[in-house]
Amino acid sequence: MKIAVAKETRDGESRVAMVPELVGRLTGLGYDVAVEPGAGSHALIADEEYAAAGAVLDDAAFAAADLVVSVQPLAPAQIRGLARGTTTISFLPVNQEPETVGHLRDAGVTAHAVELIPRISRAQSMDALSSQALVAGYRCAIVAAGMLRRFFPLNMTAAGTVQAAEVVVLGAGVAGLQAIATAKRLGAVVRAYDVRAAAAEEIRSMGAKAIDLELETLEGAGGYAREMTEDRAARQRELLTPYIAAADALITTAAVPGRAAPMLVTRQMVEQMKPGSVVVDLAAETGGNVEGSVAGEVVRIGNAQVWGGRNVPSQMPGPASKLYAQNVVNLVTLMTAEDDEGNGVFAPDYADEILSGSCVTQDGRIVHEPTREQIEGPAQPAPEPEPAVTDPSPDEQLDLPYDQEADQ
Ligand code: NAD
Repeated sequence: MKIAVAKETRDGESRVAMVPELVGRLTGLGYDVAVEPGAGSHALIADEEYAAAGAVLDDAAFAAADLVVSVQPLAPAQIRGLARGTTTISFLPVNQEPETVGHLRDAGVTAHAVELIPRISRAQSMDALSSQALVAGYRCAIVAAGMLRRFFPLNMTAAGTVQAAEVVVLGAGVAGLQAIATAKRLGAVVRAYDVRAAAAEEIRSMGAKAIDLELETLEGAGGYAREMTEDRAARQRELLTPYIAAADALITTAAVPGRAAPMLVTRQMVEQMKPGSVVVDLAAETGGNVEGSVAGEVVRIGNAQVWGGRNVPSQMPGPASKLYAQNVVNLVTLMTAEDDEGNGVFAPDYADEILSGSCVTQDGRIVHEPTREQIEGPAQPAPEPEPAVTDPSPDEQLDLPYDQEADQ
């Protein structure tokens, strides 16, 4: 049984799906690990480190692989090179990449999308959305601190006092809470807002002040946020305006599962910020929380520099790769059973909701139903069986509906 570690091919992707220190966990399960040469180079991991950890460096790693692990989805040419029945583990944004899903289906690949792993307690160690959000949230606070031309902390000196920076964080999920914690560690005064009921307590537990807009909370299934109505969104923007105008740095991280990012801050709101202020929009790639932000660019709006995040975890490829690789190892461990001699065998149990929930394609079919419906259209109802044409028995002829009976 062979696991191949892909060299990422997408522009700007610096992470790698496996790190040398975790290769031993896979070989310990009984797998051979083959790494494409150069796979770790952007994350500053040399080929020799993989070799020293027990992996084989192999240009043709995919050819005989039973399982291929990558961060981004594989390219069409890579997918075509896989044997039917190969399993893949990667991020796979099914809504944005129907063509990739189609390629995986047509190649007979069993493709797992890590973002579809159910967010249940048992799956926390495999939750790549959380591990990468942690990196992104930290990075956002560091970017804001780096762009702001003033101190984050309060400085009391013999010459006088310099006030701490005021930071506002919108969206306090995994990334937002990490941004809050990081900005707090750097000494800023942090205020934060989130629509979920539990968020205020979580914000306070990080040492920040929870902004109370006295609006109803918006909680959907599984403790996630719901989409706002336009009325509610307008009211929220109006109430947030003074907080944003007073902020030196604004960090936005709000998201609603399966939807475009909610637009929380208009251009007009940014225009009210002070000279030198900075805005960091982590959601720029998925529609943006801030009107006018551009993913991967810094744009000027009014007095503010607005930084739009683009593949933010990739900007810290070392720790992001390590956390992702840990998620992968835990998922592979779940896919591994023991044979009678105690050896590990690759035997995913699709009765397990973690594996069935994250599986997108299998045996030439799209098995993730919402994705199948999006790509292939609504399921066709099974054809009605033709009624058997037989002569009714004399008893059936007498079995008439009630009203006909009355007519007799
Ligand atoms: P996310 O990335 O989907 O969204 C980020 C945050 O944006 C969320 O906190 C959300 O409430 C907030 N948001 C959405 N619309 C908003 C709006 N209009 N205004 C302000 N904020 C808005 O969320 P996430 O980081 O994945 O976490 C969401 C929840 O799931 C949290 O409660 C988190 O603790 C929980 N969670 C559970 C598990 C698990 O059980 N395995 C794992 C990760 C997260």
